[in-house]
Amino acid sequence: MRRFLIAGNWKMNCGPKDTSTLLQGIGNKMETMPEDVDGLVCPPTISLTTASVELQDIEGIALGAQNVHYEDNGSYTGEVSTQMLNEVNCEYVIVGHSERRQYFGETDKTVEAKVNKALQDDLKPVVCVGESLEQRKDNEHMLRVRKQVEAALVSVDKDQAEDVVIAYEPIWAIGTGESATPDQAQEMHKMIRDVLSDLFSEDKADEMRILYGGSMKPHNAEELLAQPDVDGGLIGGASLKADSFTEIIEIADELS
Ligand code: PEP
Repeated sequence: MRRFLIAGNWKMNCGPKDTSTLLQGIGNKMETMPEDVDGLVCPPTISLTTASVELQDIEGIALGAQNVHYEDNGSYTGEVSTQMLNEVNCEYVIVGHSERRQYFGETDKTVEAKVNKALQDDLKPVVCVGESLEQRKDNEHMLRVRKQVEAALVSVDKDQAEDVVIAYEPIWAIGTGESATPDQAQEMHKMIRDVLSDLFSEDKADEMRILYGGSMKPHNAEELLAQPDVDGGLIGGASLKADSFTEIIEIADELS
């Protein structure tokens, strides 16, 4: 039985001070995390240590990073390693977010390498995939996303498959206020689950979580999370406010 995962991608927002304030706000709203929902916050790298300390008081919300390198260490200015993330108690890491693909040269190949490195070092990768508006208009969206999923997971061992989380994030829905419709999300998530089934097995695919991301807010979370293959959300803007983030967690709890 898959549990909902409600994940906040804070992007380049919240230094250590604001991280404390936001997490204390979340902690005040959420004295105990609903039993059937997993929470996750992914602050910027510089705020991970602060977040790790704050999260000691909030049960049920894990810590994740927004990026990681695939080498152990060395001359990679500005990068962080899996071991560094382990040291500050990260459990998850976002890999291949469309903003990293668009602005920082992330490719299917680097995504594959990062997924493997994360799994090797006990981090659960949240692998982002999604099509552009142009690709959807040209009716290439299903093929594009299928290829991204296959490329990211091609060398993942079947035994580790359930540690992988997929986040379907149509690029045209990220930060635009225009989310995918529940039907569009379900159609894509079902296709992704079929790909996971082909790559691993039907049983494995049934255990793996596929999140929806792209303008998920309290007002549309219920209809999206109610879809049978939507197992949570990767949430940008609405994760930066304690009220809206915790509201989405409560919606997931009601649907559990
Ligand atoms: C994201 O950045 O992963 C995201 C989904 O952002 P937003 O919720 O703001 O669209």
